[in-house]
Amino acid sequence: NKTVAAQYVQTVYETVIKRNPHESEFHQAVKEILDSLVPVFEKHPKYLENSILERIVEPERIITFRVPWIDDQGKVQVNRGFRVQFNSAIGPYKGGLRFHPSVNASIIKFLGFEQIFKNSLTGQPIGGGKGGSDFDPKGKSDNEVMRFTQSFMTELSKYIGPDTDVPAGDIGVGGREIGYMFGQYKRIRGANEAGVLTGKGILYGGSLTRTEATGYGCVYFVNEMLQSKGLSFQDSTVVVSGSGNVSIYAIEKAQQLGAKVVACSDSNGYVYDPNGIDLATVKQLKEVDRKRISEYVSIHPEATYTEGCENIWSIPCDIALPCATQNEIDEQAAQTLVKNGVKAIGEGANMPSTLAAIDVFLNNQVLFGPAKAANAGGVAVSALEMAQNSMRQSWTFEEVDAKLHNIMKNIYEGSVAAAEEYGHSGNLVVGANIAGFLKVADAMLLQGVV
Ligand code: GLU
Repeated sequence: NKTVAAQYVQTVYETVIKRNPHESEFHQAVKEILDSLVPVFEKHPKYLENSILERIVEPERIITFRVPWIDDQGKVQVNRGFRVQFNSAIGPYKGGLRFHPSVNASIIKFLGFEQIFKNSLTGQPIGGGKGGSDFDPKGKSDNEVMRFTQSFMTELSKYIGPDTDVPAGDIGVGGREIGYMFGQYKRIRGANEAGVLTGKGILYGGSLTRTEATGYGCVYFVNEMLQSKGLSFQDSTVVVSGSGNVSIYAIEKAQQLGAKVVACSDSNGYVYDPNGIDLATVKQLKEVDRKRISEYVSIHPEATYTEGCENIWSIPCDIALPCATQNEIDEQAAQTLVKNGVKAIGEGANMPSTLAAIDVFLNNQVLFGPAKAANAGGVAVSALEMAQNSMRQSWTFEEVDAKLHNIMKNIYEGSVAAAEEYGHSGNLVVGANIAGFLKVADAMLLQGVV
């Protein structure tokens, strides 16, 4: 049975590589899930007999489209837009939009694939999807961003809706972009369908706590891991990569829990502040002024700025929260973190650790909170935003925060239990993958061959 299950997984993986050549990020995300699922197929042949895996690795739909827009010089620019509608077994497609020059089919597919299992873990009725564009918002004027997002939405609007597909933000897409996209969608539809996007402004249907949710949720998750070993954030040293929405609110919550956060970064380099990062400065630089993190040292001369991001993981810390982007921790960085005594990792970004890095952490008994579980707080509160929109209500910050806290605790406990049940006690990668998979797979079985 063991060999049958392992062989099945291997065959499906080879088909994925063959069907999707040159998509290394997508292959990586599929491999991580598939390897975790072998014990499930050993125990329950029904998934194998019904080709659940073959179906789950194939997106229900992929949309690619042209996004023409006019820059401030009057020149016509063309970008490529994507939306991958990966799996709708448990609810409407749900997942963010990423605007970054690195965006291509592989990136969007890996993100969409992960989103299926992440969304399932939240316990909310949301399927998996993702989208974006290779548009680079860096250095663009407000008007350029508006013209681009309006053009992007003009095409995307044909494929989304509150009951079909509900996009939100991701890298390069925050409150400003969601606002412009919502405005454009509303003009096209001639109706205020609030639930079509999440991460909206509070004034027009957004949810309190959505801005904080991914970062806070990540820290809540890591806190559960720490508590299981009698540890806590109190007086710990923390390194957080990135300085976007996820990082900022991970830093905020870690500091509230008594941690000293000594570093953060952007795509150009990182800042080390021995006195602890001053979050007000980071918020002002990144959220208001849209400046680079290197500016931090002109306000805090005791801090140092280092060009390039690789060495941020050589800063000794108790807890590392990679909140920047995919594959930012490789095997060597993981070894350095272990050598310097790291106790816990919480993945705020999507797939920030390579497969080899994950092995290093697991083999060295580092508490490891995988992205699908640890960063699920953002999309979980997106689902709560959808619920509030349907009810035409808005809940208080405290109410939503309490629900978020509870969801993160449930994800942690569900992942621990699944790992235990399938013979990988303490391995939250396997636990989260299995717990996320089972719900989607069972929903698919109940809906026939779809
Ligand atoms: N982009 C976020 C994620 O990776 C949030 C998606 C959402 O809220 O739909 O989960």
